[in-house]
Parts: sequence; C-alpha cells; structure tokens
Amino acid sequence: MERRCNFRIYPNRAQMAQMERNFGCVRFVYNYFLVKRKEAYENGRGIIGYNEMCRDMTQLKRREGFEWLCEADHNSLQRALKQLDLAFQSFFRNVKQKGTAPGFPAFKSKRSPRQSYTSPASVPRRYVDRQGRVREYGSSVALCERGIKLPKLGVVRCRVSRKAEGRILSATVSRTAGGRYFVSVLFTDWEPERLERSGEEAGIRLGIRTLATLSDGTEIGNPRYFSRSQERIAHLQRELARKTSGSRNSEKVRQKLARVYEHVHAQKADHLQKVTTGLVREYDVLCVRAEARERLARDARFAGLLSDAGWGEFVRLLSYKCMWYGKELVKIDRYYPSTRTCSACGYVNEELGRRKSTGEWECPKCHVRHGRALNAARNILEEGKRLREAGSAAFLRTAE
Ligand SMILES: [Zn+2]
Repeated sequence: MERRCNFRIYPNRAQMAQMERNFGCVRFVYNYFLVKRKEAYENGRGIIGYNEMCRDMTQLKRREGFEWLCEADHNSLQRALKQLDLAFQSFFRNVKQKGTAPGFPAFKSKRSPRQSYTSPASVPRRYVDRQGRVREYGSSVALCERGIKLPKLGVVRCRVSRKAEGRILSATVSRTAGGRYFVSVLFTDWEPERLERSGEEAGIRLGIRTLATLSDGTEIGNPRYFSRSQERIAHLQRELARKTSGSRNSEKVRQKLARVYEHVHAQKADHLQKVTTGLVREYDVLCVRAEARERLARDARFAGLLSDAGWGEFVRLLSYKCMWYGKELVKIDRYYPSTRTCSACGYVNEELGRRKSTGEWECPKCHVRHGRALNAARNILEEGKRLREAGSAAFLRTAE
C-alpha cells in the first residue's frame, strides 16, 4: 500500500538557498516547455512528447546562458516535465470528450505563495563489500537519524514524527506562504497493522459545535481554533491594510498572517487525525451521512461561525483509515432524512423541516423526546445497518 507522510524540515541557510534555486529551475523548465508545447499546438505541429522534452532539456542545459539549470536536481526537472505532460494529456482528454477546452495547463508563478518540487527516489544500488556482506547505498532520498537526505541538499534536519516505514518513491519539498519548509514523502510496500475487531458499530452525525455525535451518546468536541486565533488575525489584517501593498513591510506582515492561518490549519488537521484514528480503533463499522454543502453553509451561518468544521476531510480520513485497518465505512445518502425521523418509531416529522432549533423535539406519534443530534446519529446507524444487510452498492465495503 502507498502512504504519504508529511514532515516539517529545518534547512540551514545554504540548503534554503539551494531549495530556492530548485524551485526556480523547476518553474523555469515547466514554463519554458509549456510555451513550446503551446506554440506547437497552435501552429498545428503536433505534440511534443515527454521523451522529446527530456532530450530538449538536456540540450538546453548545455546552451550558453542556461548553465545555471545544472545547479538543480536533474530528476526533479524531469519530474516537472512529466507533470507538464500529464497536464497536457488531461487537457486533450477534456477536449476530446467534452468538446470544450477548460484546464489548459497554467504557468507556474514566482509570486505563488507556495513553491514546490518533487524528487523521485532512485532505487538503491547493492554491492558486496570486502567482508562479503551485501550493502545498499545511494538512494537519492533516504530517512536517516537526524533528518532526511535529499538530492543536492544533503541531510536536511527534520523531525520524523511518525513511524515512517516502507520504500520511498518520491519526496516533495515545499515552502509555504508563511515561509515554513515541508517534505512530503511517498512510501510504498507499506502494510498497516490490522486492528483488533471490537464488535462495535456506530452512527455518526456531523455538526458544528459538536464535531461528531455518535449513536451511543458519545460527543466529540470541535475546538474552535479559528475563533481562538481570530483576534490575532484581525489585528494583522488591520496592520496589513496600513502598509503600502507590495512593500517589504507589507510582505513581512503578509507572511506573519500566513503563519497564523497555517498554525490554525495544522491544529485542525491534527485534531481530525486523532479523532478519526480513535474512531477506527474503537468501532468496526462506522456509518456517516454524506453531508450536503447547503447544510454546512446553513449551519455555519446559524452558528455564526466560519465553516471550519472540516466534514469533507473528516470523511476522507475515515475512509482511508477504515481501508488500512480493515474496518468498514458506510456512507449514507445525503438526502436521507436522519434529523426528521423519529428513531423510536420511524415517524417522519415534516414539521421539523427547515426550522432550525438545536434543542429537543417530541415525536407527535410516540411522544418520545429526542435530542436532535443523538436522534440523527441513531437513524444513521439504522440506515447504515439496513444498507449493509441489503448488500447495497451505496456503501463502501472496505473490510477484507
Ligand atoms: Zn416516534
């Protein structure tokens, strides 16, 4: 199985400069061949393929005035050409299928706040040393004790926070808008440990104030990271407005602001990771309703908050973790009336309709009082069980 791990890296000055050179060269090569292919396309000279671009690039590096391209990691330049080729392929596919031409490959911009390049890892070479032992050396990307080894950079200091296992396929180095550096490593030949089965099932109702309410009554909070940082964000935004745009000072404030946003995003991502891992450990079958965008927008407005709940991400994480660990995720149709249905007798209370009340309601038929979220979670579980038994294709079977 393949898996991606993200690590923050702490390059020194020389490494930082080399990374910037790499971003620049990759951007240049990408844009240079984008123009070439565009011209060829417009003049009806056919398609310049990947191999031809690679040959041209080698020539280009030898030309006067382009020697600086040799300073970059060669494989990352080739990877950029591969990406360009894929972008063109999907563009041509669109033209062929739909007759329209959206998504013409775009130029990479120097001003884009995020810069990145990808280095494919070379397969390590094996040799037999004097003592007759088989040794490996020279994978261009490798994790070591104090950091990660990357082409042209040497060992960059990094915290390898998670168990990084498997064979490395590639590493993507990036610089965020806030000026932080990360490496995203793609591993293959990785086998997740199978988690023990607990025999438990749960329906999950997603919300804003409470991120998730489970059918057994468990509530998972939704820390309001954004709200907590809101004051700082507002302060920086005011400060930014006072600066001349494009000036060095405004750039500094912009970067500070980006850092705060990145911090909020990281906290949120961390929370979602922990919550979803916990759920997958604890339950064998998880049922969740694919929420409509409208509900998210409505609830967010209602709660007077920006929609930083991250439901889409929540479901995405659950889905791949269920797959890894041999658990099951049942996705229920987003139009299933989980909130309006009485979980005790099945009566659908249309009156509840669009009216928004967070509290309880009483079923007009069986007079059971329901907490809104808990009732919905119970219905989601029941619907999920029904779908599983019916063997419906609407759910994602991920076990075995
Ligand atoms: Zn009822």
